[in-house]
Amino acid sequence: MYRIRFHGRGGQGMKTASRILGTAFFLECFEVQDAPRYGAERRGAPIFSYVRASRSPINERGVITNPDLIVVADDSLIPIPAAGVLQGITDNTTLLINGHDDANTWKHRLNINCKVLILPVTEEVEDRAELPFVGSACVGAAARLIGVITEENLVEAVNDEISSLGADLIKQNIDQATQAFELMAKHEGLVKESTSKTPLDYEQPEWINIPFENASISAPTIHAAATSVEVRTGLWRTLRPVINYDRCKNCWWVCSTICPDSAISVNEKSEPVIDYDHCKGCMICVARCAPHAIETIPEQLAQEKEKQTA
Ligand code: SF4
Ligand code: SF4
Repeated sequence: MYRIRFHGRGGQGMKTASRILGTAFFLECFEVQDAPRYGAERRGAPIFSYVRASRSPINERGVITNPDLIVVADDSLIPIPAAGVLQGITDNTTLLINGHDDANTWKHRLNINCKVLILPVTEEVEDRAELPFVGSACVGAAARLIGVITEENLVEAVNDEISSLGADLIKQNIDQATQAFELMAKHEGLVKESTSKTPLDYEQPEWINIPFENASISAPTIHAAATSVEVRTGLWRTLRPVINYDRCKNCWWVCSTICPDSAISVNEKSEPVIDYDHCKGCMICVARCAPHAIETIPEQLAQEKEKQTA
């Protein structure tokens, strides 16, 4: 069975993308399921949709947890944990990203070993929810990577699913889909069907027993107010966020507001400054910084560098 998940933002056509791909599979005589899953239903919010396709009846239901192909229409979603783009990714998954950065940059950034392919972004838009025809381009690329869908059936599926949009829009969507289909020609058939899982495949986690601690340690009493500053949460850090001021856009309300420990303040030049005594290394600021101006450095390495420069 093929298991494919599309990730995008509300308004970028991911639901339609999954319908088009499902119809194209159907035209190739596959059994098909396709469905969208919305979070907060509003324009620009992360959504995903998924497609299952098999030559035999599909008994599996629900969200796809271990996809063979993940298609990302908007690369700004990848670092957002709530978007779940990387959920269930394995070394056998293919990750197709519509974005500017190259595949090696993403592999390094995400520390993953699976196949990563880039569908180049062709146009810049102000509102990311209006990336034009991105859904059709994603479907065209996905169809070629799967390798069992002909260009004729891809075009017929686009026609079927968006027939109400009028001739001009249908043509533009078909052009985008077929261009992306051609672009992925050298990777045709890269995505392989994975086998079905049964409940018998469930692996129990290994349990670690932690003994009870003395109540005075495990539930200490707080004897005074406003003492949290005394708690050096910076000691918890294994990774250190470091601001690259050359890339920083000084949109300080983003990172300084989002830090759960209020460890990012703003100086008189409107630059964000991290208080490393209280930054616990949760990396939420790294995920939320849109221009990727906050880098992640192993804490040990950062401390060694500090010693050398001291
Ligand atoms: S969110 Fe990123 S770009 Fe914006 S102020 Fe913070 S570090 Fe700079
Ligand atoms: S890593 Fe977490 S605690 Fe540290 S500055 Fe960023 S958001 Fe705050």
